[in-house]
Amino acid sequence: MKDFIKWFLAVIVMLLLCVGFVYLYSYPRLREKGLVDYFQHRQDPDSVDLPRATGLAQCSAAPFIMPTAGWVGILYGDSILGTVNHSGLDIFGLEGNGITPVYAAYDGYVTRLPEWVSAVIIRHPEDPLVPGRQIWTYYTHMGDSSGRSYVIDQIPPGTVELPVKQGTLLGYQGDYNGQSWRPIDTHLHFSIVLDDGNGKFLNETDIANTIDPSPYLGMRLNTTCADRPPLCRPDFGCEPLASQ
Ligand SMILES: [Zn+2]
Repeated sequence: MKDFIKWFLAVIVMLLLCVGFVYLYSYPRLREKGLVDYFQHRQDPDSVDLPRATGLAQCSAAPFIMPTAGWVGILYGDSILGTVNHSGLDIFGLEGNGITPVYAAYDGYVTRLPEWVSAVIIRHPEDPLVPGRQIWTYYTHMGDSSGRSYVIDQIPPGTVELPVKQGTLLGYQGDYNGQSWRPIDTHLHFSIVLDDGNGKFLNETDIANTIDPSPYLGMRLNTTCADRPPLCRPDFGCEPLASQ
């Protein structure tokens, strides 16, 4: 019995050491990415002023509008808190479920597969930045953890190719995360998805099938050179401009 207690204590100490190490390792990164402020905001919203993007806002010369309002917390390519090379943007409305509107980023045709509780995808026949190419924009987590959908009634499951204009209301932010064991906070996941060349969208969970949203929104949103918080700027790319 004594041996059991010794082993039990040893395991506890090891676990505490591991947790401490992970915390110390990740703390500067979390601070740099604003996540420490975000967690603090969750505890006490008045204790920290979290910068928020404005829904429907558009940077000059950028083709897309910001598809929702909130703290742009997890950017393109981020690999933090269990996300591996994040394929899009996570925008946290900070208002709870079913409140913060989500809008179409650009004109196109919206589809919602029959099994999609919280997601829609819009086909854009003409990529505004790469003429001749078809692209898609994907919007998800528009539902709550019990499976209630916040996608608007006019886009029911099974909708195919309904024309939408830039700025059309699609639904509201939520925290639905499918069958995943990982609970999430209320937000919109937004990504720009490549076409397979035969008129179908590719699997957006693989970053290789998605596009850096920076030039489409006119902001540095790629984790390798992102502004935190993001801001409109003409030099949104990670590479120095050719003229410089
Ligand atoms: Zn995401």
